[in-house]
Amino acid sequence: MDILLYNSLSKKKDLFVPLNRDLVGVYTCGPTVYNTASIGNFRAFLFADLLVRTLRFNGLEVKWVMNITDVGHLTDDADQGEDKMEKGSREQGMTAWEIAQTHTDEFYLDMDRFHIVRPDVLPKATDHIQEQVDLIQILEKKGHTYTISDGVYFDTSTIFNYGVLRGSIEPDKKEARIEENREKKHSADFALWKFSSQEEHRQMEWDSPWGVGFPGWHIECTAMSMKELGDLFDIHTGGVDHKMIHHPNEMAQAQGSKGTSEARVWMHNEFLLVDGGKMSKSLGNVYTAEQLREHGFDPVVFRYLILTAHYRQQLNFTWDSLAAAQSALKRLRCIVREWEMPSVGSAEYEVRFLEAVNNDLDTPRAIALVWELVNDSTLAGSSKAQTLKKWDAVLGLGLLDYIARPLVVSDEVQKLVDARARARLAMDWEEGDTLRAQIAELGYHVDDTADGQKLSEL
Ligand code: AMP
Ligand code: ZN
Repeated sequence: MDILLYNSLSKKKDLFVPLNRDLVGVYTCGPTVYNTASIGNFRAFLFADLLVRTLRFNGLEVKWVMNITDVGHLTDDADQGEDKMEKGSREQGMTAWEIAQTHTDEFYLDMDRFHIVRPDVLPKATDHIQEQVDLIQILEKKGHTYTISDGVYFDTSTIFNYGVLRGSIEPDKKEARIEENREKKHSADFALWKFSSQEEHRQMEWDSPWGVGFPGWHIECTAMSMKELGDLFDIHTGGVDHKMIHHPNEMAQAQGSKGTSEARVWMHNEFLLVDGGKMSKSLGNVYTAEQLREHGFDPVVFRYLILTAHYRQQLNFTWDSLAAAQSALKRLRCIVREWEMPSVGSAEYEVRFLEAVNNDLDTPRAIALVWELVNDSTLAGSSKAQTLKKWDAVLGLGLLDYIARPLVVSDEVQKLVDARARARLAMDWEEGDTLRAQIAELGYHVDDTADGQKLSEL
């Protein structure tokens, strides 16, 4: 079946035609590991994960590359400000290298918690300094660079359609701040290699043909994506903020060095808002996977919440919306436990699901379809089980652990449930409530149904 994907370059949904049918190349701008990735960042990674799962669901082989930025970002998009890694080092009392390692390990753990499939390659910027230097040298040879007092810069006027990804949107205010650097030829020009300043001692710096320093913000992605996927590959993903500066600059580097647009399809997820606004440290609302757990939520509930919105729509996160997602997922798990072992799936539903996800990853429709399937009284449980089992390859909700697996509780819980049945028979409602509370403490909710007590996980 055809796959339609919205391409930020063409500004419409295009039929996806792989460059090479044997292996589709996908590159995702990964985390900057100077602190813990937020649930906002994870919306971007969950979107990329969904894309890769969908392509694989369609039978395509995918090589998924996600970089780990462990060097060189400045706190300001305009190549000014403090180095994020050095800042993290100062604030967290570790070396820059330890900071990077700690948050990389943490990132892997959080990816697992959100059921994000492991990318095939996770290249680190610090392991690819030579590749970045080589690429800058090509750009230099081809006349796209100039050197000023604080570094080597990319001359954006040498690229005829520079910034095409932005469309008609004006570059944001951050870029205006570039004016601060008066030596630059054009405000959009950006650093390829920054020189270490004489006054400060940097923990992360390298020798280069231009002097000791560190790579600029954008060069690592072009160098590492081309190394892993070739000079032109299929799909590049990132958050919508990258449409303005980072991705136009990556594309300019690819155009200047290899004459390609780097990727054919550029895809961007919209932002996750928190309580209707931006996540920010000062508001104390930059939540992480660990914080979701501390609030009593399994991080996969957040994955369910993300699936309920289309990736190109803003999504407002609130604790209430997460609680609603949790109830929905619990109900789903509870229902699928009762189903018989998977047999033959429903062809009709399966076609509709494929239509939904192949239509630019329409997950709200896919989730609606899950509930339509669940509530369809004309289908046998075994058939629903088979269909949902297949779909979970895309949804990644871990439903395989629940489908046709009746809840098994410990003897301790069972004894309380039996005691509660006796109490109810004796119409001792008070004792019944006490026992219900004790059962809840052990992690289960009791419902009284026409068929007796029904247990579900809290
Ligand atoms: P960073 O580590 O800042 O480079 O961000 C990693 C990824 O997360 C990038 O693709 C960003 O565009 C994306 N991102 C950052 N904040 C949000 C947010 N609130 N919602 C969705 N994506 C985000
Ligand atoms: Zn990138």
